[in-house]
Amino acid sequence: MFDYLIVGAGFAGSVLAERLAVGAGKRVLVVDKRNHIGGNAYDHYNDDGILVHRYGPHIFHTNAREVWEYLSRFTEWRPYEHRVRASVDGMLVPMPINLDTINALYGLSLTSFELDEFFRSVAEPREEIVTSEDVVVSKVGRELYEKFFRNYTRKQWGMDPSELDAQVTARVPTRTNRDDRYFLDTYQAMPLHGYTRMFENMLSHPNIKVMLNTDYREVEGLIPYGEVIYTGPVDEYFDCRFGKLPYRSLTFRHETVNTEWHQTAPVVNYPNEHPYTRCTEFKYLTGQQHPRTSIVFEYPGDEGDPYYPVPRPENAELYRRYKELADETEGVWFVGRLATYRYYNMDQVVAQALTTFRKIMGTKVPGRPP
Ligand code: FAD
Ligand code: UDP
Repeated sequence: MFDYLIVGAGFAGSVLAERLAVGAGKRVLVVDKRNHIGGNAYDHYNDDGILVHRYGPHIFHTNAREVWEYLSRFTEWRPYEHRVRASVDGMLVPMPINLDTINALYGLSLTSFELDEFFRSVAEPREEIVTSEDVVVSKVGRELYEKFFRNYTRKQWGMDPSELDAQVTARVPTRTNRDDRYFLDTYQAMPLHGYTRMFENMLSHPNIKVMLNTDYREVEGLIPYGEVIYTGPVDEYFDCRFGKLPYRSLTFRHETVNTEWHQTAPVVNYPNEHPYTRCTEFKYLTGQQHPRTSIVFEYPGDEGDPYYPVPRPENAELYRRYKELADETEGVWFVGRLATYRYYNMDQVVAQALTTFRKIMGTKVPGRPP
């Protein structure tokens, strides 16, 4: 008899498995339909002996001390600050747009103060920032929006930025200084021995059993358990009874090339050329030394594994209906990026899972504060 069936061995499922087993002495069965743990953060050594992320580049960053300290129980870290270049007008320039981006692009030597003036002169004022187009044109104007954001977003999401919520492009800031880091979070690092090793450490406990290659529906009714933690797509749990929630997918093209380095930055974004959005070179992320190098290209599409919830009003409305159902479903906790239909980073999923654990303890263990 298991106290919990956990569907999905990604961050949401693994954090809850660890907390319930170690923090509350529960017996937990984790099932995942894939043949590995780690969810989309899974990494492995490929046939060439290079550590790669099967589902695209995963860079850990957070401002949440609790999340950082929690994960630090399961891994040591390699300090890493992420940098991205965008291929625009035949050049590779810093992304997020900063002082060096603009000076390189237009052959100028502006100061930060002058760049601020420049942005103000080209920005299109908006009364309200509602869409992903509003976010960008209200800050840097139409020309830069078209060079850096419009086509990338159309490729990535299959729709125009004007059809997407502001939160999508708001993830990428604009700077007037020369800081070319992609993230500014307090904690930025990669798990020293990779994500999968970190997940192994989280799940390695006598109270936790892991079954791979198993859809939870295969064990329903066969194995007795108390409650369920569900981290798959929320609409699938309810057999899509209100219709399918849109999730954007990606196809990953992995390659190993016969040179020590392939490109001059960890990630190069291609807003305007190629059917792929970006190319990542893993050795920058992992610090691994190897005479060859492995890269991955990301091709967005509608078909395939669900990777991104699509933030737009009609989807929020459809999700709201599923959430009502989820809230009414006794004994099942919906957690994670797919089950709560949120464009969450890894740290946000960990924080959500830790909060869920506290809620579970609050409702289930008499005498404990929620
Ligand atoms: P998942 O990792 O998706 O895990 C859910 C698991 O449930 C999956 O393993 C799935 O197989 C399993 N499952 C689903 N249905 C069933 C079923 N019926 N039966 C059994 N198992 C099932 N975040 C960052 O912080 N930094 C980054 O740099 C970053 N880069 C990203 C790049 C890409 C291309 C993508 C797609 C995401 C990126 N993320 C990044 C986000 C990060 O992947 C997620 O926040 C995190 O992995 C979500 O964890 P999760 O447990 O909610 O979901
Ligand atoms: N974006 C863009 N051009 C870029 C980088 C990002 O238009 O060069 C937009 C695009 O819509 C993307 C969003 O900003 O989906 C968020 O970018 P981020 O790098 O955070 O995407 P993720 O890593 O989550 O795929």
